Amino acid sequence: GRPATAAAMVAVVVYAAFVGASPSVLRAAAMGIVMLGARLAGRPGSALSAVVFAGAALAAWQPLIVADAAFQLSFAATLGIVLLAERLNVLLASALDRLRVPFAAWLAENVAVTAAASAAVLPVTALTFDRVSLVAIPANVLVTPAFFFALFGSFVVAGAGAVDAALGRSLADLAYAPLACFVAGGRLFAGLPFASVSPGPLSLAAPVIVYGAFAIGLRALRRLEAADRAPAPARRVDARLGWSAGLALAAAFVWAGALPAGDGRLRVTFLDVGQGDAILIETPAGHRLLVDGGPSVPALAEALGRALPADARRIDLIILSHPQDDHATGLVGVLERYDVGQALEGPLGGGSAAYRAWRAGLAREGVPVGLATAGQWLDLGRGARLEVLAPGRPLPEAAEGEVNDRSIVLRLVYGRVSFLLPGDVGAAGESALLETPFELRSTVLKLGHHGSEGSTTPAFLDAVRPAIAVASAGAGNPFGHPSPATRLRLGAIPLLRTDLNGDVRFETDGSGLWVRPARGAAKAADAPALLSR
Ligand SMILES: [Zn+2]
Repeated sequence: GRPATAAAMVAVVVYAAFVGASPSVLRAAAMGIVMLGARLAGRPGSALSAVVFAGAALAAWQPLIVADAAFQLSFAATLGIVLLAERLNVLLASALDRLRVPFAAWLAENVAVTAAASAAVLPVTALTFDRVSLVAIPANVLVTPAFFFALFGSFVVAGAGAVDAALGRSLADLAYAPLACFVAGGRLFAGLPFASVSPGPLSLAAPVIVYGAFAIGLRALRRLEAADRAPAPARRVDARLGWSAGLALAAAFVWAGALPAGDGRLRVTFLDVGQGDAILIETPAGHRLLVDGGPSVPALAEALGRALPADARRIDLIILSHPQDDHATGLVGVLERYDVGQALEGPLGGGSAAYRAWRAGLAREGVPVGLATAGQWLDLGRGARLEVLAPGRPLPEAAEGEVNDRSIVLRLVYGRVSFLLPGDVGAAGESALLETPFELRSTVLKLGHHGSEGSTTPAFLDAVRPAIAVASAGAGNPFGHPSPATRLRLGAIPLLRTDLNGDVRFETDGSGLWVRPARGAAKAADAPALLSR
């Protein structure tokens, strides 16, 4: 009925505000409101124009959204529901009714909506994920009720948690149990033989042809339906709709070509992951790099959740500076949450369990692994570059088993601003660096080995001459990092610390540099002042 539909629209808005208005939530909310609005108007024809309008409006606001798989999926699913669900519902309801199935109307509506959405996204999943699921429709129909309970349970748990954290935790199963069913159902269906097939490499033409054929078929169907009923449908509305859809698509493609990805700023975030290193680099061209993963899977997952937009699914390159647990452990979980493009590591290898799990994960996911050697550099686009300064050959002399001095040392350069990321190198690694012809001078220095006493020697500090220093260390760590001796050596150079400041984020347009620690006073580190030293 109408009151229920209007209430549902309010619920969608409240829900969007409740979970935080991230782009993916806004997208889903816009689509949901559009569909409910069309239902309120009682005209399936207007639902189609409304969905196309919502898609065009989102594309006008964020042109690159058309290339985003999440947008393509929500748009296709919504179109599928608008165009197919009601027809399927009528067919199913009468069939189930004839078979005297209990709850026929409810069952028919749910199956129809789920099946319509699942079918409509198949060309997108085939193109983007190289997969066509043969079980998607029955699987979705069966697990959808669990989703409803999970949503309801999450609301209750979040509300209770806001009142009292312990109460929230004690009720957590309300959300966990249906979510576990949801995941278990997905696993069960995915484990069936021939659950999905790979269509092989497809060109963009394939989904265009499939959707085109679908549109022609649907149009023929509408003609037949219209012939059954008396007065002919308003054709002019159809033509206008076609025009506006075409224009919206054309505009989206023009914008997608004109606007490069990324916003022209380089962001470097030293993530607070406890006693270890994890550094997120977001390049001016919109690529994401991660240097090390810290000592824990949940700590890195949370830190990346804080630092990245909610719909981020990809990390283009992960560099492991050296295979020790306080750098490698967190990476093990990244492969499950993100789509990783490439990995880079040093010549060491190693036997730690975390490192082996990381390598096994990379092999499983088919992520190519490159070897970093001094002298390489990576063009990050828009003039940003990442230089590999170490390890060189021969490897610096170090005690047997001492891997710190063989860390990958990186220098990230964008315009007048640069970052030196020396991993865990100590005095031996630093003196090896001083003998290379590489430029070491950098605006920001991450202190080697978490600020330990054996790193950041006076000669090295003199060569780098940073304007600002960062130490990545855990709060109350047993090693006393960053050490008082190192802090003394820094003298007047301001030091930001992940143990005290939380995530420390730098942002630069190539000339200005802004520092935003999560906690504590932001030292007003304006580049002109810093760089003119
Ligand atoms: Zn370390």
